[in-house]
Formats: sequence, structure tokens, C-alpha cells
Amino acid sequence: MSKEAWKAAKANFEAVGEKFEGLCNKAMDDAGAERVAELRDDFGAAYVAREVYTAMNAERAKQAARRDDDPEWIEAATRMDEAGEPLFHCEGCMEPIFEGEAYHAGEDVGLCANCAPSYADMIASHENFRGENDEPMTVEEAKAVADAHVAAGGSIDDKMVTP
Ligand SMILES: [Zn+2]
Repeated sequence: MSKEAWKAAKANFEAVGEKFEGLCNKAMDDAGAERVAELRDDFGAAYVAREVYTAMNAERAKQAARRDDDPEWIEAATRMDEAGEPLFHCEGCMEPIFEGEAYHAGEDVGLCANCAPSYADMIASHENFRGENDEPMTVEEAKAVADAHVAAGGSIDDKMVTP
């Protein structure tokens, strides 16, 4: 499944979800208003409020069950399922990252290939990287990592990504 298919499925799922949410809210409002009309003249405000709350909750459950049986909802949810789950979202640009795509897995940050730092970036901000013993990298350590990459045929401007 491609990233575009996933995005389209997600947009569709959200649009369908929003539509049902709107229908549900309207039905809940109607159910609440109906209960108010029934009780208004004969009961205290606290009692009416509680009854309205109960009526609206019951309506929400009814609407949720209706949505779950709706072919449009089922189709949107199935499409979403089939599109797969991203591994994670890039913390730089929020793009979803899927298995098989290059990405940067830092100590506590996941970045897409676009947002990933290059080896040159690593040297420039070596203290943000973890070296031996999980300590912040010294500039020497960062240079050693970059040198090894260049020695293996890479460029200092390559992004630090796996695979
Ligand atoms: Zn990104």
C-alpha cells in the first residue's frame, strides 16, 4: 500500500466519520430537546438535566450502532484497514512513515528522510546525538562516524537514515 493510498483512505475515513458525528450530534440534540419538552412543566431543573443527559447518551449509543452497520462507514473503515498502519509519524513534518521507507531513528525522535539530519548536521550538533555509553557525542566521535560513512563510499551530506 502506498503512502498516498493511506492518506486518501484516512481523509475519506475522517470525512465519513465527521458526517456521522454531525448526524449523531443532531440526533442527540433532538432527543435532548424532546425530553426537555416532555418534562419541563412538571419536574425540577436538576431532574430534567439528568433525564436529558440519559436520553442523549441513549441516542448516542443508538447512532453509534447505526453508523457501525452503515455500508459507507464499513467501507471507509475497511479501506483504512487495508491501507495499513504507518510505523510512526515524522516528528518534523508529521508525514506517516511506512515499513520499507528510509527514516532516521534517533534516541527519542523519529524523522522522515527529508527531515533527517545529514552526517554534516551530526558533526555540527554532535551533542544532540548519543555516542558510546549513551553519553552525548563528542565532536571527535561524530567525526569518526562521518569518516567511516565517507570511507564506505558515502557523502558527508547523506542523510542519516535506515535502512
Ligand atoms: Zn519529516
